[in-house]
Amino acid sequence: MPYNPEIRAMIKLTHFDVLIIGGGLAGLSTAIHLSKQNVKVLVIEKQKYPHHKVCGEYVSNEVLPYLKQLGVNPLYHNAAEISKFKITDTFNIEIDVQLDLGGFGISRFSLDAILYDEARKNSEFIFDTVTSITYEVNDISKKSIFSVLTSANSLYTADYVVGSFGKRSNLDKSLNRTFIQKKTPWMAVKGHYTYEMPNNQVQLHNFKGGYCGLSKTETGQVNACYLSKVSAFKKYKSIKAFQKEHLSKNKHLKHFFETAVPVFEKPLTISQISFENKEPISNHIFMLGDSAGLIHPLCGNGMAMAIHSAKIFSELYLKSRNESSDSRQWLEDNYALKWNNAFQKRLKAGSVIQRILLNETSSKIGLKIASVFPQIVPSIIKKTHGSPMI
Ligand SMILES: Cc1cc2nc3c(=O)[nH]c(=O)nc-3n(C[C@H](O)[C@H](O)[C@H](O)COP(=O)(O)OP(=O)(O)OC[C@H]3O[C@@H](n4cnc5c(N)ncnc54)[C@H](O)[C@@H]3O)c2cc1C
Repeated sequence: MPYNPEIRAMIKLTHFDVLIIGGGLAGLSTAIHLSKQNVKVLVIEKQKYPHHKVCGEYVSNEVLPYLKQLGVNPLYHNAAEISKFKITDTFNIEIDVQLDLGGFGISRFSLDAILYDEARKNSEFIFDTVTSITYEVNDISKKSIFSVLTSANSLYTADYVVGSFGKRSNLDKSLNRTFIQKKTPWMAVKGHYTYEMPNNQVQLHNFKGGYCGLSKTETGQVNACYLSKVSAFKKYKSIKAFQKEHLSKNKHLKHFFETAVPVFEKPLTISQISFENKEPISNHIFMLGDSAGLIHPLCGNGMAMAIHSAKIFSELYLKSRNESSDSRQWLEDNYALKWNNAFQKRLKAGSVIQRILLNETSSKIGLKIASVFPQIVPSIIKKTHGSPMI
């Protein structure tokens, strides 16, 4: 062990079986799952709960059975039950379909806080930013250990580290991940509004260079969240001007931005959203949720994938622990395999659909065909979704 006795004594107090970096959906679901099975878990999250996040806030029902198993039922918290889907474009094409599996609408402000309330029952939480992660193997005992340092200069150690720090984090740089070196053209804007629309419908409105999702949340307010190319936005002086002059070329968005009453003082924005390939394991850290890969938001499935990756990791971890086959290699191989089996095809399908929808010609042709044969829409959606997680 490379530390002096004083530090070693401290390490004893702060050693965990599993240390989770990032308490979003993936991290919180893992914390609940593992800590209910007496695993000693620490979650380090940089932001206090509750907080808003840029997200479409439509969650696929595929996660409902698993969330209920974890002791969380979003429907008890007034989540909007969604079974219909509307897609429109700037050429006045409008398609309405029934969703096979459906989903629910709930703000991240509530959902993350509900999961946190459940997770904190059996896991420990530290609100701080992780700045570095070191993995070492003892030369003599051959035992491996992670040391995790935070911006408050606190040091924690663990047998396993879960990286659930989202789509872009300071840690991606320190871990030297390749995707972080590439510039990306994507930005997103989100806000809550008072606006009349069906409770049971999620809407996707296409515009040049992006698309905007509208759906109800548990408060009855509408969440409006759009993804756009930065190049489309740059021609305008402000978000307001962009929405009025650019997004409003779609008549549904024109109606929305002219009549909806904003609830937030100003919308939340993020940029540098990367859809590049990532790895489910990096430097022996198990990457979950967006840290392992972000699906294009129009699929409305990133949250389900984050929660699903928590289930995959937790089940494998518990299996290796219960069978005392304490082999890191076994866990790494099986997590990577299961992650790829569960998500690779969805990520590819999402990328193809996004490319079609964001190209004016292919989107016009695609949506025209879909308006004549609307039954193809649910089967396309299926390609980016999984089955209920029982
Ligand atoms: C524009 C847009 C719209 C979307 N719409 C939808 C949708 O409608 N439906 C859907 O299912 N998905 C949607 N998604 C995807 C969805 O938001 C993500 O897939 C989901 O949030 C992933 O959860 P996560 O737990 O992996 O990450 P997050 O929820 O981002 O959590 C990561 C956490 O890590 C913390 N963190 C980061 N770095 C550190 C650090 N160094 N130390 C400590 N903590 C750290 C952060 O504070 C954060 O809380 C959308 C995404 C975008 C960009």
